[in-house]
Amino acid sequence: MSKIYIALGSNLEEPSQQIYKAINLIDAIDELSVTHTSSLYKTKPIGKIDQPDFINAAVKVEGDISPENLHAALQDIETKAGRIRMELNEPRTLDLDILLIDDLIMKTKKLTVPHPRMHQRQFVIVPLFEINQKLNIPGIGSIDEILKSLPDQGVVKI
Ligand code: ADP
Ligand code: MG
Repeated sequence: MSKIYIALGSNLEEPSQQIYKAINLIDAIDELSVTHTSSLYKTKPIGKIDQPDFINAAVKVEGDISPENLHAALQDIETKAGRIRMELNEPRTLDLDILLIDDLIMKTKKLTVPHPRMHQRQFVIVPLFEINQKLNIPGIGSIDEILKSLPDQGVVKI
């Protein structure tokens, strides 16, 4: 059984509700169960700063699913939430990113695991640390070291 960590983010159309709904839909994926859920965090947008604050969270899920099928299932949930794919760092109703799948390191056209920017983002690392303080990010390092190295990016637990 794989241990998988997923980051959730939303800054449109009642973001907290989008996150709760998405967690239920992830749990409803046949092969998976959500075992841990972080608090919700209010965070400042990065890149394009003239957009609403984000709500971010992270979940741990367990189950047997291929990375490709997991990615497709998460994209399906994003689409159901009414997400229109635009540019990087645009406002979005729902963003679901695969952070970690066990100790897997992979890079295809569609999918890079661990997520390539996760260790630079306080809004990913803070909720992830809340659910597992002992994590190791393959190829990068321990989560407590990463957390200490990050500048404050305005992430507040709500
Ligand atoms: P971002 O999440 O970085 O703001 P998007 O959600 O628009 O950007 O995703 C852009 C692309 O990232 C997607 O088409 C997807 O194929 C790719 N991608 C690569 N690695 C991952 C991953 N680990 N989790 C989710 N998407 C990923
Ligand atoms: Mg994404």
